[in-house]
Amino acid sequence: MAIDRAEVEEQVRAWFRDAWDPDIALLAWRERLVASGWAVPSWSSRWHGRDLPAWSDRVAHRAIVDAGGVAVPPGGGFSLAAATIHDHADDELRERYLGPTLTGELRWCQLFSEPCAGSDLAGLRTTAVRDGDEWVLDGQKVWTTSADHADMGICVARSDWDVPKHAGLTYFLLDLRQPGVEVRPIHQMNGHASFNAVFLTEARVPADHVVGGVGEGWAVARGTLSHERSFTSSGSAPLDAHLGGRVVDEARAEAAEHQRTYVWYPQRQGRIDLAIGRAAQRGGARRGSPVGEPVPTPPARGVPGGRGSRSCEPGSCEAVARDRVAELVAVHRAAGWTADRARVARRLGRPPGAEGSIGKLALSEVARRCNAVHSTLAGAHGMLSEGLDPVDAVVAEVLVSTPAQSIAGGTDEIQRNILGETVLGLAREPAPDRGRPFGRVDASAGAERGPSPGRHPPPDHVAEAADPGTCDHDPTQERATPCRSTD
Ligand SMILES: Cc1cc2nc3c(=O)[nH]c(=O)nc-3n(C[C@H](O)[C@H](O)[C@H](O)COP(=O)(O)OP(=O)(O)OC[C@H]3O[C@@H](n4cnc5c(N)ncnc54)[C@H](O)[C@@H]3O)c2cc1C
Repeated sequence: MAIDRAEVEEQVRAWFRDAWDPDIALLAWRERLVASGWAVPSWSSRWHGRDLPAWSDRVAHRAIVDAGGVAVPPGGGFSLAAATIHDHADDELRERYLGPTLTGELRWCQLFSEPCAGSDLAGLRTTAVRDGDEWVLDGQKVWTTSADHADMGICVARSDWDVPKHAGLTYFLLDLRQPGVEVRPIHQMNGHASFNAVFLTEARVPADHVVGGVGEGWAVARGTLSHERSFTSSGSAPLDAHLGGRVVDEARAEAAEHQRTYVWYPQRQGRIDLAIGRAAQRGGARRGSPVGEPVPTPPARGVPGGRGSRSCEPGSCEAVARDRVAELVAVHRAAGWTADRARVARRLGRPPGAEGSIGKLALSEVARRCNAVHSTLAGAHGMLSEGLDPVDAVVAEVLVSTPAQSIAGGTDEIQRNILGETVLGLAREPAPDRGRPFGRVDASAGAERGPSPGRHPPPDHVAEAADPGTCDHDPTQERATPCRSTD
């Protein structure tokens, strides 16, 4: 008989009451959790799970957190690396990596994007060459969140330049603690440095650390991207462990370290909470401005009438500010309903539909509108990273963080391409590289636009090929994942 949510909750609560011991080490607690099968109950019972439906992961996680306990570690290790290894790797890799990832002993990062391979991920050029029992990787990855404190990376590299681009990729588990890997933090315009450039110079991967087979990297990478959606529901849930004791103390320290990377992520979403609170406080008027002074900030993109087309008549500015706040709240509510629909569809086991891309676009729109509202309310104070009002500093961070929202996890343009082609049935984008060996299409890769010109020369036939290509891509095989939470 099929199990329901209430039953899962009850079973988890009962197990937790017996198993919880506040005085043991965090690692010992997580080992107990993993052994019980409640860390990821949707996984197979052979691999730390209970063969339950996908929704049970969220329910079990919530039940443990609500009871004040500690669940799986935060971050992409569990949600991306472990999930991919569980689904696609062979038993030796599962044996070796699943347990330590679920307990938090191993931390992972996602080595996918490259300087000319983000939207067009399959156009990546990090090269993998077989050398006896190992693969040798050369190239550059970029925007790699948390690479500076990860132990391992899930890494896609090109193992064959003589086949079409999607067919020449292989998925590796790369040990970052080796001389061939150099991690350099990237300093962002919001003052944080949460992602990195990662240079691979003859980095070594044992031949048995390939996931899904040589040349199968694209299919496996798509699997990883599809797992990013469920990330927020489990691995990134806030630590609400109110029970106290050693387990909780160690989990708090772990969460604080994790949080250092993600501290600006709420600002990246626009902080609608601050916008509404401030608007209510100020009655919609801009601080320090007499009512009626024109509001200089142009309307958010996407506001009917277009950017800058709306002017403030004397006496109407409070109304304009209120309008913007009301529009923001309406868009935010609608986005929430879309997200609810997507959640219900997933719970019912339906394949991802248009809600994913629409939801991702809605989040970008909310962030942009928040920016406009904050600017309207704060005026020039919104540029102060240390204003008289501490909220000004947060607003200043919002203004320079929101652009990331429409890039991470697939840009707005890519979401629109996906919607146009897969939902509306419009013509596919031209893709001159379709069906052609990537080495011939991407002739200029090594000479001009390669990952590290001079350091990683492309195979001979790449430099010789006659028809230089561009970063064209096949959007139907695109990063269709709406929520790349590690991003
Ligand atoms: C906060 C953050 C964290 C990240 N973390 C990670 C990480 O941990 N690991 C990782 O691998 N990557 C990570 N990324 C990278 C992210 O996945 C890429 O930035 C994203 O996929 C876009 O790629 P790109 O930056 O190369 O932009 P590009 O693909 O170069 O795009 C540049 C511009 O061209 C537009 N464009 C491109 N192709 C098309 C097209 N066909 N049609 C119309 N417009 C197009 C884009 O929309 C964009 O406006 C992170 C990014 C951010 C912002």
